[in-house]
Amino acid sequence: MVTNRTFTMLKPDSVEKGNIGAILEKINAAGFRIVSLKLTQMTTRDAKAFYAVHKERPFYDELVAYMTRGPIVAAILEKENAVEDFRALIGATNPAEAAEGTIRKLYATSIGENAIHGSDSDENAAIESAFHFSGTEMF
Ligand code: UDP
Ligand code: MG
Repeated sequence: MVTNRTFTMLKPDSVEKGNIGAILEKINAAGFRIVSLKLTQMTTRDAKAFYAVHKERPFYDELVAYMTRGPIVAAILEKENAVEDFRALIGATNPAEAAEGTIRKLYATSIGENAIHGSDSDENAAIESAFHFSGTEMF
């Protein structure tokens, strides 16, 4: 199945540093349309569920603490080839390995505090969008 949507979160470090506007500008400039957008905060239960795939990894508890420590910006984005193109725009998980000009290269602090999330498949984009938005919020 081919879809043209992906899901993102501007993580707590991005909100804390005042980078919401700059990052949304990069997303718009790259040709993504914002379908849904909200400032919200994940509960521990939310973060544990969202990142359940990583629950056996050594960084899981730290990841849950990080993702719940303050507000995030959640968004659904639309563009042709959205999932792949958005992963290219955000760059590698570790900002030290992220390409020049990518959002993580520009705004991430470390492999843990890496500024932004991007879905890794069309299937996960749909699951993650439904995790944060429902009904008419999804347009
Ligand atoms: N993460 C971490 N340490 C690691 C790998 C990942 O703290 O060694 C965190 C980081 O915030 C990352 C998230 O866990 O974005 C999810 O990891 P994943 O491998 O799915 O990276 P992503 O898909 O976000 O690039
Ligand atoms: Mg991932």
